[in-house]
Amino acid sequence: MKYDCLVVGAGFAGCAAARLLAESGRKVLVVERLKHLAGHSHDYRNEYGIFIHSYGPHIFHTNNQEVWQFVNRFTRFHNYQHRVLSYIQGRLLPFPINLDTLNEVFDCKLKGGEAREFLRMEAAKAVYNQPPENFRDVVVSQVGEYLYELFFKNYTIKQWQKDPEEILPEVALRIPVRENRDDRYFTDKHQGIPASGYTDLAQKILNHRNIELSLETDYFDIRNNLESRLTVYTGELDRFFDYKYGRLQYRSLDFKYETLDQEFFQPAAVVNYPNDHSWTRITEYKYFLGEKTWKTTISYEFPKATGEPYYVVMSGDNVDKRKLYQADVDKLNGKYLFLGRLAEYKYYNMDQVVEMVINRIGEYLKR
Ligand SMILES: Cc1cc2nc3c(=O)[nH]c(=O)nc-3n(C[C@H](O)[C@H](O)[C@H](O)COP(=O)(O)OP(=O)(O)OC[C@H]3O[C@@H](n4cnc5c(N)ncnc54)[C@H](O)[C@@H]3O)c2cc1C
Repeated sequence: MKYDCLVVGAGFAGCAAARLLAESGRKVLVVERLKHLAGHSHDYRNEYGIFIHSYGPHIFHTNNQEVWQFVNRFTRFHNYQHRVLSYIQGRLLPFPINLDTLNEVFDCKLKGGEAREFLRMEAAKAVYNQPPENFRDVVVSQVGEYLYELFFKNYTIKQWQKDPEEILPEVALRIPVRENRDDRYFTDKHQGIPASGYTDLAQKILNHRNIELSLETDYFDIRNNLESRLTVYTGELDRFFDYKYGRLQYRSLDFKYETLDQEFFQPAAVVNYPNDHSWTRITEYKYFLGEKTWKTTISYEFPKATGEPYYVVMSGDNVDKRKLYQADVDKLNGKYLFLGRLAEYKYYNMDQVVEMVINRIGEYLKR
């Protein structure tokens, strides 16, 4: 069969790429190996009427106007502002660390403008490498040893099963610290949850006369029967090359769900457990779309080494393998685009995926 473009995978990357190619007049086939759309942002309404995010809590946030306009063509967003608490020594404290967190932990009354100096003094008491050589160095240089031990150290060990001193500094650069009382997890201009869910959003992005969709279809089973001028590949990078340089490593997660006979379980959508219990966090899903129900569904999250690929592992070995695979991608001269978290072996937020797709497909169309 002949198509102008074949898109492998119907996550954010595949859906956005398919739509932009279809709007340029090209006939597009999207193949997705799973039964469902939306990849890792997949969600569904459970029997109690609550939307569950199948692969962990997903909040859309962006400062990019073009990205925001793109997703708003297909959905209305429920205005949800994400808040996270950390369970520390029996108390629930705002996270990321902000002025209120500092006042509670140190039992003091810092005012706005005083936090920066306070944190600088905390950091000055600590010993760390500058420039930072690992995860611990980055965090300790921002908040000092005590806050690092309370909020970050054990969470990181649970998440990565590694000492933070063995983790590359880039992993910690994403951690925000606030010097004011803003207790939102993200400060982007635009934030929210698609009002009818992410799966419905994916469906709407793909709803175009030039797009055909084939679910439960693995690219590697059909690639020899198809001809296309362009293949947009959003699956695993190492699998495409039959693991010739070895497997790229991922961290995985297990979720244990419970539905409770009570209106709410916890005071925010997500509570982190850095130091207690074996789970890293508990998510209470009804906060995202504000469903009014007398029951509530929560999930406990347990990191693990193998299973569904969730987080890329930026260790030296994986970085080297990624480079080798990337060199092979570069040799495919223009007939393939490798886009998204799996195909580029890179951590992306959803908005960053959309932004990257707009740019890369834009460049392709100009050519
Ligand atoms: C726990 C967790 C929480 C997150 N929370 C947020 C958040 O709050 N906000 C945010 O912006 N981002 C969040 N993210 C990141 C977000 O999940 C990603 O940015 C997004 O899913 C990437 O989309 P993608 O299309 O690149 O990959 P995916 O969503 O993984 O899509 C790839 C698709 O390709 C399919 N596929 C793979 N191989 C084949 C094949 N051979 N044939 C056919 N189909 C194939 C897969 O089945 C999948 O559907 C989170 C990630 C994790 C792990």
